[in-house]
Amino acid sequence: MATGKIGVTTENIFPVIKKFLYSDHEIFLRELVSNAVDATQKIRTLSSFGEFKGELGTLDVRVSVDKENGTLTVSDRGIGMDSDDVDKYINQIAFSGAEEFLQKYKDTANSIIGHFGLGFYSAFMVSKKVEIRSLSYKEGAKAVLWTCDGSPEYTMEECDKADRGTDIILYLDDDSKEFLEQARIDTLLTKYCRFLPVPVISGKVQEWKDGKMQDTDKDKVINATEPLWTRKPSDLKDEDYLRFYHELMPGQDDPMFWIHLNVDYPFTLTGILYFPKIKNEFDVRKDRIQLYCNQVYVTDQVEGVVPEFMTLMQGVIDSPDIPLNVSRSYLQADTAVKKISGYISKKVAEKLDSMFKTDRKAFEEKWDDIKVFIEYGMLTDEKFFESARKFYLLKDVEGKYFTLDEYHTLVEGEQKDKDGRLIYLYATDKTAQHSYIQAAEAKGYSVLLLDGQLEPHMVGLLESKLENVGFVRVDSDTPERLIRKSDEKASGLTPDETEVLTMLFKTQIPEVDNAQFMVGFEAIAPDAAPATVTQNEFMRRMKDMAAMQPGMAFYGDMPASYSLTVNTDQAAVKTIIADTKTAIGADAERILSEIAALNEEISKASKEAQDKKEPAPEMKEQNDKVSQLRAQLESEVGKYAAGQPKIKQIIDLALLQSGLLKGAALSEFIRRSASLL
Ligand code: ADP
Repeated sequence: MATGKIGVTTENIFPVIKKFLYSDHEIFLRELVSNAVDATQKIRTLSSFGEFKGELGTLDVRVSVDKENGTLTVSDRGIGMDSDDVDKYINQIAFSGAEEFLQKYKDTANSIIGHFGLGFYSAFMVSKKVEIRSLSYKEGAKAVLWTCDGSPEYTMEECDKADRGTDIILYLDDDSKEFLEQARIDTLLTKYCRFLPVPVISGKVQEWKDGKMQDTDKDKVINATEPLWTRKPSDLKDEDYLRFYHELMPGQDDPMFWIHLNVDYPFTLTGILYFPKIKNEFDVRKDRIQLYCNQVYVTDQVEGVVPEFMTLMQGVIDSPDIPLNVSRSYLQADTAVKKISGYISKKVAEKLDSMFKTDRKAFEEKWDDIKVFIEYGMLTDEKFFESARKFYLLKDVEGKYFTLDEYHTLVEGEQKDKDGRLIYLYATDKTAQHSYIQAAEAKGYSVLLLDGQLEPHMVGLLESKLENVGFVRVDSDTPERLIRKSDEKASGLTPDETEVLTMLFKTQIPEVDNAQFMVGFEAIAPDAAPATVTQNEFMRRMKDMAAMQPGMAFYGDMPASYSLTVNTDQAAVKTIIADTKTAIGADAERILSEIAALNEEISKASKEAQDKKEPAPEMKEQNDKVSQLRAQLESEVGKYAAGQPKIKQIIDLALLQSGLLKGAALSEFIRRSASLL
């Protein structure tokens, strides 16, 4: 019997392993089963090259629980190890440089595993003692028994073992007894080993007998050894993909479509990505892509590993270039992983492009459902944006689809403003903005429908990417000014008239929650609405963005400001203007001229002071008088306006059109309308 010290420079590597890897200690099973699978595949390879001439026999990996002895055993019929192999692979290699490594990566100790071939030693996370019994495939080899109790001392001796291969026997720690439960082992094997290429057997198939579930004598195979993604796409039918999807993601509706990735240059990568139908935000769960490394499950925490937007997809990605056993931060920083991520993104774009080119109609039918993926991709991945430009679609309110280039051509003639900027008009809600859409269409404009979750962001992105294009929502200005083709149209009113009429309307605007209004006048057209409420595009976007940003919510809660534009060309408005003039015109003019005189006096005094380089005089008396006159005017105008139900009616119609007339104000409007009838 030989004894020795494992080639570790630090005495207490085992406590380190236990401590650092505590949270993930279940992965020991994956490590041991993967080693067993590797050894099995090696014997297959040797046999196929004629280097192993004996019988292969059945090649499977068995995981067995022995409750009585408190052991868990992983057995294979692979190449096995002789004492030299054990010395070389187990005693020497595993810990070479471990200390230095530990020093360097203290914080990300998870990455020790795998990176340094500590796979086998992860057994010590759950065991007080580990035995290896192994018989090498080599002719004349002697079976070896290696034992280690978790200190760096081990023993090695000859033993009896008739069958080729390796048994790893774990004497489980007292606090790891859970791994003696077959159900727990089944769960772990299903998680990590479900798609391993060699049959993994654990426990027996159960059957309902004598009123309870009982073991039969049939071995229970855990895995599918040839999962769909390892097969040739040309051999597979839609049913196969759908069946696999439902196995992988039980309880989901059918996906919209899928992409089978299959490459071997510049790195090996296979996988299937499904596009689920996302009905609402609650459907977005970001743990639905599973990463595999040669069919060994690595993780489903793929953020930072696959492109951000793909976390909305579901499926599997398998690449030997994805390092096993490393922490997520390590995965994210890995250059191979970065390349893989970029590559997948490119493949997804290519697939979408080809779908668009081969069957545009079918692509358009799917568009509303897939656009969230595409928009997410365009927003988060510069390269994806460039590839998606060709197949990104804009939909108008009639339901017609256009590529970006097509749409540019469509509106180029009609929708340039006076500065040569192309204005894309859009609605976000076809019903609520119906009359604004109609008004824009009546002017011969096209209106897009941007009602997706991500489209407020897309508007900003497209404006920054498309040259000289601006997006304007249909209700953000009067139809005349949505696309400003010439300088402002005059209202035909004098400043004094404007001042009085502003008061006239402003005093009659009902209380609207969280809103404030500016009043303006414009000679729009005789047949246009008497008044319109609009919300400035820029202001609305600021508010929308703020509402979506954590910490900026207060900004979103601030009152929104709207413009009430009164159409001075409209007959009813004309009458109101004329009537007002007759009723209070003379009075108003007198007050306004008094105010003007006072203002004149104030500005003269301040100018004189300025010339003498003296501070401006206070002129308190005059200023007070101005405020007082203004209040007087406002009260007079208000009193007059209150007796003119048509003013309120015009305002309410505009509020109604923009969806702002609610509650008491709405009831009042209905009552007034009835009495006006
Ligand atoms: P890694 O698998 O990353 O190389 P391990 O510590 O898990 O690191 O294993 C070290 C080596 O021990 C393996 O590369 C292999 O040569 C050998 N080994 C481990 N388990 C077995 C097994 N079941 N059969 C044959 N060889 C094994």
